[in-house]
Amino acid sequence: DEMKLYSPRVMKEILEKYGFKFSKGLGQNFLIDGNIINKIVEAADIDENSGVIEIGPGFGTLTQGLCKKAKKVVAIEIDKSLKGVHKETLKYDNIKIVYEDFMKIDVDKLIEEEFAGMDVKLVANLPYYITTPIIMKILEDKYKISRIVVMVQKEVANRLNAKPGTKEYSAISLAVQYRANTNVTMIVPSSVFMPRPKVDSAVIALDILKEPRINIIDEKMLFEVIRGSFNQRRKTILNGLSNKFDCSKETIKEVLQNVNIDPGIRGENLTIEEFGKISDEMSRFFE
Ligand code: SAM
Repeated sequence: DEMKLYSPRVMKEILEKYGFKFSKGLGQNFLIDGNIINKIVEAADIDENSGVIEIGPGFGTLTQGLCKKAKKVVAIEIDKSLKGVHKETLKYDNIKIVYEDFMKIDVDKLIEEEFAGMDVKLVANLPYYITTPIIMKILEDKYKISRIVVMVQKEVANRLNAKPGTKEYSAISLAVQYRANTNVTMIVPSSVFMPRPKVDSAVIALDILKEPRINIIDEKMLFEVIRGSFNQRRKTILNGLSNKFDCSKETIKEVLQNVNIDPGIRGENLTIEEFGKISDEMSRFFE
């Protein structure tokens, strides 16, 4: 019979047995609600042909749900002190656990080596201290992942999902729009975690587009332009870009005028299409 890993009693017992101590610094809040776990697994749309990358299995409650549905799961956990726990909680034939910092993982290589012929999904209840860098890493590279389902702080979900002109709209909103369609699946109260975090969470699904939303000359340039425009939030795009690219305001003004964009506008009011135009003009200008 299968262990109910999400039962707080089972969790406490096993964690104590291995002398595990929760690390706040690593964002360790483990799920203790079977319903939420089922809903995350459902949102990931996993079947017997799916390969799943999980970032941060922790105790393994969500991982268990993934292993039961997927062809193969590769779970990446930074905390080696969970090794003993995993021997007990994750006795599945279709799992591989890599004890490493996700930020150091070569995801392309991993997909090639572990998931040949499979449809690859990424699922994670993300550690909050490093949510943005992880999502940027996934979005800036062209991995062959079809869907990403992540649990994040509610505020972060709002930023991932934000539209131009709102205060949540930021560089990461644009990175998401460039690559994916988003769908906030549910808001999750802090009571479903052990220990409880201070804030509510949300589960967001990102469906990766077959082709990026806009066609541009140079992707790296696009992301630099976006970052430059949001570096100092209340500054104009003219200031942001001349700082970022270390060139004169006259130059940037010329670039912006060539694509009919007001140099006095702020990044938070520009659409992804407008960023695309600026980026392409920058590429041509600095060729
Ligand atoms: N998936 C589990 C769950 O839902 O109950 C645990 C989620 S917990 C919020 C985040 C997990 O990510 C922890 O197990 C933590 O040790 C791990 N983690 C933190 N930083 C990481 C990193 N850079 N790379 C991989 N795992 C990391």
